[in-house]
Amino acid sequence: MKIVEYKTGHEERLAKLKVTLSNPLSLCWQVTKKCNYNCSFCLSGEQDQTDLPLSKIKSIIDVLAESNLLRIDFTGGEPFLRSDFCKILTYASEKGIETLVTSNGSIWSEKIASTLLETNTLLLISLDGDKEIHDKSRGKGAYSKAVENIKRYRDAGIPLRINCLIRKDNVDKIDYVHQLVKDLRIDRLFFILIAPQGKAYTDTELLLSDKERVFYLDRIKALKKVSGDHPFITIQDYSELGNHHSCFLIDSKGDVISQGYSQDDCIKVGNILTDGLGKCWNNPIVNHKGHFLQYSYMFNYYM
Ligand code: SF4
Repeated sequence: MKIVEYKTGHEERLAKLKVTLSNPLSLCWQVTKKCNYNCSFCLSGEQDQTDLPLSKIKSIIDVLAESNLLRIDFTGGEPFLRSDFCKILTYASEKGIETLVTSNGSIWSEKIASTLLETNTLLLISLDGDKEIHDKSRGKGAYSKAVENIKRYRDAGIPLRINCLIRKDNVDKIDYVHQLVKDLRIDRLFFILIAPQGKAYTDTELLLSDKERVFYLDRIKALKKVSGDHPFITIQDYSELGNHHSCFLIDSKGDVISQGYSQDDCIKVGNILTDGLGKCWNNPIVNHKGHFLQYSYMFNYYM
């Protein structure tokens, strides 16, 4: 597949582009804010123990399917902590929606693997670096568990991508993660530069300075050139995307958030259950063009 990436210098052309969308194309959905880890950089912020029941989740999927949504990126918290998560994936898939799941890699089961296969779901597992830094971030034993489960999901034939959030404490692990992903024979590696969101909005110790951001972005870009397709590296730096970034997110209560670069740009536009999708989507705060660009153009590199 030919991958198209956003290039700086396209701003003028993008600014002239006129986009009208009646619905979002894709969205992230925090199906739970519960997690078995407690990372200091967690983008979803503080944990919440209350989840929507399966009946409400299904109603939301019905609404999204009726709006011809293309893709849901299920995230958390840790989605696999929901005992009904396989049912959620299957339901979304039966409605014709493409599915992705972001996980910390701590959970494996035959049932999850077969559901991921049946629904052709892309599984995204996070790695922070070597055992030392990964366990320091997530807890003792987390690294071994993630690597072991990556192998199991890989051997089960699940399409996989490794996500690595780059922040102050793991910038020296970029090459390590690249080599590990190569050794694990995973073909997709996604480096995300930390944004001031969630816990990283108040706990700013892990944020990169502008100078560091430019430096490490250049290093990853150089690595991407030599890496080729094994693994194919994609990079996300929200600060570079500026107004050309806009993510639509449903949280664990059904609140709908229009997300930008910083936590200050993450604004609640309604609740999917009480307001419906149309009202949330047509809130003037939502950046339709940014959304279109993110999902139809820049984010081709999701895959
Ligand atoms: S594993 Fe992921 S969801 Fe869980 S606390 Fe860490 S960053 Fe947040």
